[in-house]
Amino acid sequence: MPELPEVETVRRGVSRLYLGRKLLQLSVTGPRTVRRHDPGLLGLLRGRTLCSVGRHGKYLLLGWDDGQVLVAHLRMSGQLLAAKPSEPLPLHTHAVLRFSGASDLRFVDPRTFGELFLAGMGRAFLPDGGARPGSSADVAPMAAKAGGLALPEELAGLGPDALDVGPAHLGAALAGRRAPLKALLVDQRVLAGVGNIYADEICHVARLRPDRPAGGLRPAELRRLAVATHTVLTEAIAAGGSTLSDQRYRDVLGEAGSYQFEHKVYGRAGQPCMSCGRPVERATIGAKGAYFCRRCQR
Ligand SMILES: [Zn+2]
Repeated sequence: MPELPEVETVRRGVSRLYLGRKLLQLSVTGPRTVRRHDPGLLGLLRGRTLCSVGRHGKYLLLGWDDGQVLVAHLRMSGQLLAAKPSEPLPLHTHAVLRFSGASDLRFVDPRTFGELFLAGMGRAFLPDGGARPGSSADVAPMAAKAGGLALPEELAGLGPDALDVGPAHLGAALAGRRAPLKALLVDQRVLAGVGNIYADEICHVARLRPDRPAGGLRPAELRRLAVATHTVLTEAIAAGGSTLSDQRYRDVLGEAGSYQFEHKVYGRAGQPCMSCGRPVERATIGAKGAYFCRRCQR
């Protein structure tokens, strides 16, 4: 499932290829893909110009010159793929956005958990709008005039973007919580963007066991956790994200990421820890597995 680094890689690709272009046509053929509202509403975007490409956690926010925001959530298997209109549609294509310049952006999603929806504007998060400076966004000049991109009300329950958090937020969010650390790291209300893979990698780099009660972390451990979160996510973005053996995650150009080759614990049960050589273990935490090193992580 794409997590923050994968979605950020897709965001950068969409921004590079489509920012400032006009949407000529939009067709939806997968009824589950647009399920929050009448799919016909997306027709409102025809003729609009894409003026910002933002992200908060795992959500992509495509902002248009009339202030509307199209939210894309890839969930399990969604892909946004660039193509020429003449190229054959891949199986499981559920929506096609045709832009000026003869370029299509296709939403492909075999498992159909992903979705697209139009959202109202809510709290502003660009620097000129105020509250949320850190979430990633590229903005065309006309967006500044429109007052910038906003975090839609539909997403107001999300915690801060995981790239923005420091020890103070983590300390406040985890205080008094008995749930295992990993369970809270993947809780999108606590931290938006971290999932199964990066929670394990972050815990390893922070030298913290994923099954530690989250509320028991000391200040120095919270600082390590904040630094590890930023380091792991930033390095994963630089590597274009992680493409696992299912080959599902691809960037906008269809390329795989390479961070899977840098995973220190995720998916490596029984293999030697890269720091100390002891075999990496897999434990079950809640309903999920977690990979960690018993010697390096306390
Ligand atoms: Zn180790």
